[in-house]
Amino acid sequence: MTEFLTRAASAGGGSGPAGRAAIGLVFVGPPGAGKGTLAKTLQARAGMRHISPGDLLRQAVRDHTEYGRKALTYMRAGDLVPDEIVDAMIQAALAQAEGGSGWVLDGYPRTPAQAGLLDGFLASRGGTLNAVVYFEIGEDILLRRLTGRRLCPICGAIYHVDYRPPRSAGRCDLDGAELVARRDDAPDTALHRFRVYRAQTAPLIDHYRRRGLLLSVNAERPAEELYDMIWGSVRSRPATPLP
Ligand code: ADP
Ligand code: AMP
Repeated sequence: MTEFLTRAASAGGGSGPAGRAAIGLVFVGPPGAGKGTLAKTLQARAGMRHISPGDLLRQAVRDHTEYGRKALTYMRAGDLVPDEIVDAMIQAALAQAEGGSGWVLDGYPRTPAQAGLLDGFLASRGGTLNAVVYFEIGEDILLRRLTGRRLCPICGAIYHVDYRPPRSAGRCDLDGAELVARRDDAPDTALHRFRVYRAQTAPLIDHYRRRGLLLSVNAERPAEELYDMIWGSVRSRPATPLP
């Protein structure tokens, strides 16, 4: 393991600015489990780079890029966007994060094929995966979280009308922009996204458990508690060599 860490650091992708090995985390859990909220907190407090394919795709849609146009139909339906689009975006973002304190992949991989590609990419760049955090939560709670979720279209901050309301109703605390609901958070599409999650993403949980990487958290707990739990656990966790 030590040998692996040394190799990772000397390849340029595994050592953060403070000299400690960069931390690589994957967040797995159903839509609305709180992955984005926690990833943004890790970015703000621990300097981890938050990499979210959902955020990148929504930005591509707003920018009317080729990827954005291709992805839109899938996203509106609550289906997964084809791998060739998502894989390219994630690999570019991971390459950009090299040399920093680490990264959190929030919503990638979402299929066993994506997990295989991630392993191959990290191995080729000397990157490390320290833990896969699994957000465990009941579906009744998820639907309430999704239907009440509001986003800032400018900075991406995440709110909830009841659980995390902004200081001034409907306005982002950080930049005053008018908050928006995600179209795919409407109940019908959300229920479809849960089915997609169960069929395509949930098998990853056992895959990562077998590899000794899984850290399960009770995602029904308050976000502050989850942050302390996750950061307390991963900051000292050694990287596991790739298979
Ligand atoms: P995901 O990224 O997993 O889809 P989000 O982080 O966007 O989930 O959270 C979904 C909604 O639930 C948001 O409105 C957010 O404010 C709210 N939320 C997130 N974490 C918690 C929590 N621990 N307790 C209560 N509400 C939460
Ligand atoms: P999220 O913001 O994580 O809820 O993702 C929103 C939507 O983006 C999903 O419903 C998919 O359409 C698409 N998406 C996000 N991540 C992926 C991924 N890893 N693979 C394929 N599609 C994705």
